[in-house]
Amino acid sequence: MKNQVQLITYVDRLGCKTVSDLKNLFQNQLKGLFGGLHILPFYYPIDGEDAGFDPIDHELIDPRLGDWNDLKELSKEVDIMADLIVNHVSAKSIQFQDYLEKGKASKYASLFLSYETVFPNGATEADILAIYRPRPSLPFTMVKLKDGSSKLIWTTFTSNQIDIDVNSEIGQQYLEGILDTFSKGGIKMIRLDAAGYAIKKQGTSCFMTEDTFEFIGVLSEKAKAKGIEVLVEIHSYYQTQIEIAKRVDYVYDFALPVLVLDTLFNKNTTSLEKWLAVSPRNAISVLDTHDGIGIVDVASEAGKPGLIEDDILDRIVKQMHVNSKGDSLKATGEAASNLDLYQVNCTYFDALGRDENAYLMARAIQFFVPGIPQVYYVGLFAGENDMDLLAKTNVGRDINRHYFTKDEIDANLERPLMVNLKNLMLLRNNHPAFNGDFNLLETPSHVLHIQWKNNKETSELLIDLEAMKMSIQFSKDGQMSHL
Ligand code: BGC
Repeated sequence: MKNQVQLITYVDRLGCKTVSDLKNLFQNQLKGLFGGLHILPFYYPIDGEDAGFDPIDHELIDPRLGDWNDLKELSKEVDIMADLIVNHVSAKSIQFQDYLEKGKASKYASLFLSYETVFPNGATEADILAIYRPRPSLPFTMVKLKDGSSKLIWTTFTSNQIDIDVNSEIGQQYLEGILDTFSKGGIKMIRLDAAGYAIKKQGTSCFMTEDTFEFIGVLSEKAKAKGIEVLVEIHSYYQTQIEIAKRVDYVYDFALPVLVLDTLFNKNTTSLEKWLAVSPRNAISVLDTHDGIGIVDVASEAGKPGLIEDDILDRIVKQMHVNSKGDSLKATGEAASNLDLYQVNCTYFDALGRDENAYLMARAIQFFVPGIPQVYYVGLFAGENDMDLLAKTNVGRDINRHYFTKDEIDANLERPLMVNLKNLMLLRNNHPAFNGDFNLLETPSHVLHIQWKNNKETSELLIDLEAMKMSIQFSKDGQMSHL
């Protein structure tokens, strides 16, 4: 992956209707700003569960957006990352419908996981309690087959997202077929969506076990053989994330969003610096994504301390709700049909109380910590919570999934905040210091001082949290310059 800022977006929420429109945007308004583009699910259909995370046909671009030729054209402008949804397919997929119709006789029967397949001799209470989930209910859905019998089918997320057996022959063919289509279509990077849940095995947590590592390793090799790089998406306790990072190509830095809030709210860099001393360097850093702001990534686990103490973390979450004037509370936890109870749904700008100065600092911190930064399309425009969309759909994450119009985008690009953000992005994309060494300089706890050095090239970020003042300096033609 290029060491430059990447954009995360849906095709149809950024003033565009099609993949070709998106290409246009990259050739014009967004030119030079991004070295990579993560396009959120664009498979048929884009309006399924969780905005396309339940493909009926993972290899078909939703015809409303265009086709693979359009995507290939876009890939000439920018390196594209696509989701490989490894864990599940839509309940409406041909494969699952065939299974409902023919049961065991279906040629797709072994693609799905029933209670029986994972627990052939039955499960104990301990087996069931050990299963790790994004929410407290059990990962099964009762389905009725055409012959009138009922089956318990494994569904980690919703009952429309039917888990697949990635170890079955047909499961492997399914994933390889997608990889082939991706590589022909110009995809350079994949995001292994919800990869931690892919392997189910009795007596384990069914989350990120040795077998899961093995599966990710083999799949990554197959992808690499087709010229595709792999980012593994896992929310977990921070020590687990460090271990995972040692064994995969790229992980997300999901701890950063809350650590940056902690830094700015509490005017203290201690927790952030503790993380930066050990954080994986093969990271993709984010402040916001299409999902909520992850809490497990900084929290304690089973008595082991987290990156932020429990009571401070509690106050940070409350502060986000206060800053968003209570709006995020309406979209979080059990308030709206949420896929993940351990995430706060709120735009990052609203979590910061729409404070433009703090927002720019947050982005500067993100761009100066190790990792390749990704900016979510709503965050690109310092977007506000979309309460209308939330009211319309009652889907918590929709609070941060606004549909921008072309006019909104043009107006946003003129905002002084955007001009500053663009300059910051251009510096991060083009200054040679960022290909050198990262140094965290010793300072009092209310000051953050980060320096990148690459031979004679330097780029530095200095933030005084008490004064809420930031300065960015960088070498230019042998002298130091300011942003
Ligand atoms: C994605 C979600 C999605 C889930 C299941 C996640 O981790 O980011 O948006 O709903 O996986 O596919």
